[in-house]
Amino acid sequence: MSSVFDDVVGQESALAHLRAAVVAPVHAYLLVGPPGSGKRTSAQAFAAALLCPLGGCGECDVCRRVLAGTHPDVLLVERAGAFISVDQAREVRRLAMRSPNEGGRKVLILTDFHLVREASSVLLKVLEEPPASTVFVILAEQIPPELVTIASRCVRVEFGSLSAAEVAAALVSEGVAAAVATAVAGVAGGRLDRARLLANDAEFAERRDVWRRVPGRLDGTGASVAMVASDLAELLGRAGVAVLEARQAAERAALEERVERTGERGAGRKILADRHKRELRRLRHDELRFGLATLAAVYGDALATGSGDARSCIAAVAAIQDAAEAMIRNPTEALLLQDLLLRLPPLADRRAILDSPPG
Ligand SMILES: [Zn+2]
Repeated sequence: MSSVFDDVVGQESALAHLRAAVVAPVHAYLLVGPPGSGKRTSAQAFAAALLCPLGGCGECDVCRRVLAGTHPDVLLVERAGAFISVDQAREVRRLAMRSPNEGGRKVLILTDFHLVREASSVLLKVLEEPPASTVFVILAEQIPPELVTIASRCVRVEFGSLSAAEVAAALVSEGVAAAVATAVAGVAGGRLDRARLLANDAEFAERRDVWRRVPGRLDGTGASVAMVASDLAELLGRAGVAVLEARQAAERAALEERVERTGERGAGRKILADRHKRELRRLRHDELRFGLATLAAVYGDALATGSGDARSCIAAVAAIQDAAEAMIRNPTEALLLQDLLLRLPPLADRRAILDSPPG
């Protein structure tokens, strides 16, 4: 029998937990795990299972509408700014108090609640006086101190990072060629959303080659560093943007279509626009991280095959790791790249590098 949970990749123990919960749900669940691990898809499936008369058949009208995001009793609350605001938490309370439109139950899915900050006390009150008809499904990447008390009022469901094999298998089942699926899964860091984006990006292999050629283009002069740095900055400026923008345009169109059909006022436009901006920033960040990993692999290969000086290859890998860590503290990307390239040793044996299998 098909199930509404079929679309979720991996996460067997989390899903077992959610499936069991459908029979006699409590008032709040906290789904915790890294980005791209399937929390949102799972939350939506769980919501469908909670409303479906068959417990989540995946085929009835209720399941279909919940999965399409058009069921009036499943409300998705996305953060509007950098953090969840007190106003948003009050909006959550207002939504939670409303009676269900169709059946006896309503599901509120709250995303990004690791960013709850000062809104946590308002949210805590909502959770402490829950209307019997409302089930909260709260999503968070981790549990910061502000979320600890809220977490103690919820049943916690842990999501782990997906393995590269799980990501690749999911892509293949979506029609991606096996070789492409394996290549992108290898660099997606366990994130299915990132892997999907790369799988649809015809220029991905080309970008990987640009990064792989970097050590061969360095010749120890500041001039070569400046040229490579400027090429990489240009590459980062357009990498993957077209694919992401196409997906975002489709999401905007879906929103407009919903506004037209339901007559809602279109309050979601700003939230969607904000999320799209964040996605573009994140894309650039992801691309830089991917580039650095590719670069480290080139020096790693040179070390393994003996085509580069061992000591300088080890130093290069360490310098790249330092740069990747510095990136988390968000310094200026151009300076970071420039600084890194100055520290990297040239690798003379270009052909050996280019001919080595993609890592
Ligand atoms: Zn159903």
